[in-house]
Amino acid sequence: MLKFIFLSLLFYNYSLADELNLFTSRHYEGDNMLFNQFTDKTGIKVNVVSGKSKVLEKRILEEGEKSKADILFLADAGALYSSQSKGLFTKLDQKRYNFISKSLRNDYWVGITKRARIVFYNPNVTSVNEIKDITYENLADKKWDKAIAIRQSNNIYNQSLVASILEHNGERKTKKWLNGFVKNFARSPQGNDRAQILMVASGKAKLAVANSYYYSLMLSGIKGDKQKKAAEKVLPHFPNQNGRGTHINISGAGILKFSPNKENALKFLDFLLTEKSQLEFCNNSFEFSVLDNMKSNKIRNNLNDNFKEDHSIDVTVYGKRQKEAYVLMKKAGWN
Ligand code: FE
Repeated sequence: MLKFIFLSLLFYNYSLADELNLFTSRHYEGDNMLFNQFTDKTGIKVNVVSGKSKVLEKRILEEGEKSKADILFLADAGALYSSQSKGLFTKLDQKRYNFISKSLRNDYWVGITKRARIVFYNPNVTSVNEIKDITYENLADKKWDKAIAIRQSNNIYNQSLVASILEHNGERKTKKWLNGFVKNFARSPQGNDRAQILMVASGKAKLAVANSYYYSLMLSGIKGDKQKKAAEKVLPHFPNQNGRGTHINISGAGILKFSPNKENALKFLDFLLTEKSQLEFCNNSFEFSVLDNMKSNKIRNNLNDNFKEDHSIDVTVYGKRQKEAYVLMKKAGWN
C-alpha cells in the first residue's frame, strides 16, 4: 500500500513537472508560436486556456485552491490590477525582474510587452504642424470639434488612458477635459481600435485614438488588403512628447497563488523576457519590448519607437483609478 502511494506520488510529481497551464486574454497568433518554442526548449508542455480577462478571473476565483492555472497573462494593466485586488496572484521576487522599468511591474505581476495609446491622422487632411505638439489634454480643444474617433467608455484601454489623465491632472481638470473631449467625438463611439483608424483613412474623422500595434497590424496586410490600403493613408503621432511623454500600457503576467507548477511558471516568465522572445513580440504582434534598448522591426511596423514614454506614474495606477475614471467618462456622456 505504502509503495503504491509512493509511486503514485512520484507519478503525480512527474506529470506536474512537465506542464504549465497558461490562462491568457491575449489573442495574437504569434503568441502560440512562442509558447511552442518554450516547449521545444524546456520540454514543458504549455496548455493554453484563452478567454476574456473577466471570464478567466472569475474561473480562477471560483476554482480557488483547486485551480490548475499557473499563469495569468492579460492585456492592460487595469485587468492585471483587477485580478491582483482579488488576491489571485502570488508575490514575485522583484530582484528577478529589476531589469524592467519599475513603472511596468509590481509585487504581483510583470510587464511582458508594451503598447502606446496614440493619435492617428491623415496628412492630406491635417498637417503635421497642426498636431506636432499635440497632447492628450489638447484633444478637448474646440479646434477639434466633431473631429475625433475613439471607441466606447467600457473599453479598458480608454479607461486606463483616462485614469492616467486623472492621476496627472486631478479630478476637477479631468472632468472639464472630458466634457470638451466628448464634444469633439466625430460620432457616437463604436467599433474596435482599427475601426477608428478606418474613420481617419476615409476622412470621416480628423483624428483617431488607438493602440499603436493595431496600425501596424493593418499595415502588415494580415487584416486584409482594404485595411492595409486604409492604414497607408494614415500616420501615427505620439502625444505629449514635449512633456511627460506618451501614455504606455502593458500586457503582463503573474503567477497564481495556487499554481501547481510554480517552477515552470518562473521559467516561462524568464523565457518571455529573453531578447529573442521580446523580438518575436515586436515582429509578430507589433508591440514594443519591455527591455531597454530593444527596438522593433521598423520596416514591418512603420512606427518610430524612439518616442518619449510616460514612466512618471506606475501602470498599476491605471487599475487603481479605473473605476473612478469610468464614472467620470459616463457622466461626461461618453457612451
Ligand atoms: Fe488589443
